[in-house]
Amino acid sequence: MNSGEILTAVLEGGDTIEYVFDANAPRGGMKHTFFTPDKKYAVQFFNNPADARNPRMQDRIRSIVGIYNPTLSEQDGGALGNTEKTAEYFRSRFCWPVAIVRSPEFGIVCPTYPQRFFFGADASSVLSLKGKDKKSNWFTGRNRRFLAPAELGDFRTMLTAAIGLSRTIRRMHQAGLAHSDLSCNNVLIDPKSGSAVVIDIDSLVVPNKYAPEVVGTRGYIAPEVLATMELDADDSRRCLPCVQTDLHALPVLIYEYLFLRHPLVGPKIYSAESAEQDDFLAMGPMATFIENPDDTSNRPPDLEVTIKSLSKGLERLFLRAFVDGLHDPAERPAAMEWETELLRAWERLIPCKNPQCSAKWFILRDESSPVCPFCKTKVTDKIIRLGFKSEMRGKKGVFREKSEVIAFDGKPLFDWHIFSNVHNDEKASTDMRAYIAKYNGMWLLVNNGAEGMTSPSGRLVPKGSAVELKDGAVFRMTDRENGLICEVSVT
Ligand SMILES: [Zn+2]
Repeated sequence: MNSGEILTAVLEGGDTIEYVFDANAPRGGMKHTFFTPDKKYAVQFFNNPADARNPRMQDRIRSIVGIYNPTLSEQDGGALGNTEKTAEYFRSRFCWPVAIVRSPEFGIVCPTYPQRFFFGADASSVLSLKGKDKKSNWFTGRNRRFLAPAELGDFRTMLTAAIGLSRTIRRMHQAGLAHSDLSCNNVLIDPKSGSAVVIDIDSLVVPNKYAPEVVGTRGYIAPEVLATMELDADDSRRCLPCVQTDLHALPVLIYEYLFLRHPLVGPKIYSAESAEQDDFLAMGPMATFIENPDDTSNRPPDLEVTIKSLSKGLERLFLRAFVDGLHDPAERPAAMEWETELLRAWERLIPCKNPQCSAKWFILRDESSPVCPFCKTKVTDKIIRLGFKSEMRGKKGVFREKSEVIAFDGKPLFDWHIFSNVHNDEKASTDMRAYIAKYNGMWLLVNNGAEGMTSPSGRLVPKGSAVELKDGAVFRMTDRENGLICEVSVT
């Protein structure tokens, strides 16, 4: 066969797909990849023919493409409870295999990643990166200095990527699936748009199916997996990749996105004798969080922005993940907890007024000391906090806080700010129902389509009209069922 020759693959189910043979096809650890002539799909075959013929492996991949597939609606044979809307949501966030190749040999068909996950020609003036995929360590490690400023995004887009990633991993774990090799290589990010896509899905660990033999990637392997790697696969002390090991890799990635550094890479020397042994101890049995409050032996001397610069909720989660849970997998926060706390932090995100600030946005941890942790610029404006409360069922007049928002000019509000039974997730509508605006020195909440919004005095606020956000003001976001009330406080 010659490079450029067009071949035909037969899929399970009988359809066919054409792909372009390439003698220098890109090769990963497990598979090599060809592309369809229109480059919309990758057709992948296993490097080792024994893998391709393994019926247990084939069976596992069939269930990934079928009944565990969150990018396909239940109606079309995908995951249980999945609607077309949620399937579409996850299609752009997972590079999930769409079909199985039967002939010429067993293989899989995956969509290619969207263009935004490949570097363009002007991504770097030093390196030639055009066409390379955007592995996240390009943005979070030392290589960052080679990239054009336009590639780097800001704190807000990195927080967006962290939210997206925690949501996709939560969705996988909800189905009982573990990724098993979550790392900077298998999650591509585009800091410009704040998007993240999870790739290499065929190494997923599926419940009650034969697990793939994945070792993981340096820096992301859970310490207990690394520490027991030398043991035989059937030794009961051997720790294998599972949901709990994903729950180590996930916060490593989130920490990298938010702080642009690795949570375990610090100045501590674990073994002076060999670099290999030092690395094994640093990532495995002796791993120490660089921000461990009780053990500062691995703390870099120049840490300025720390977990204390984020929301209190995120600080607690990082301590659980990297102090309590670093060597005790049962203590690690679940992906859903990360999603929830990152979203809470998102609602406290405000722009930094310093035009030179590298982060451009920061999480306001404390209303009483409003300072950007990245550039130390103080907020001079008033701080306006909206507390959204719902009436407790069966207890008229008793309210419980559902969420809060710190205002900035242009802050959009959605259904989850209006109804107690709507949450910011893949099911929610993304139509903006209201927004906060600063107008002639007044802070306003402008109705953009929330029906039944009422002013503090009880008058209807129609679309296009506004409520002034004064200290102590209380009003209804809607008078419909499950409507939230909003309480304003100004500091
Ligand atoms: Zn700043």
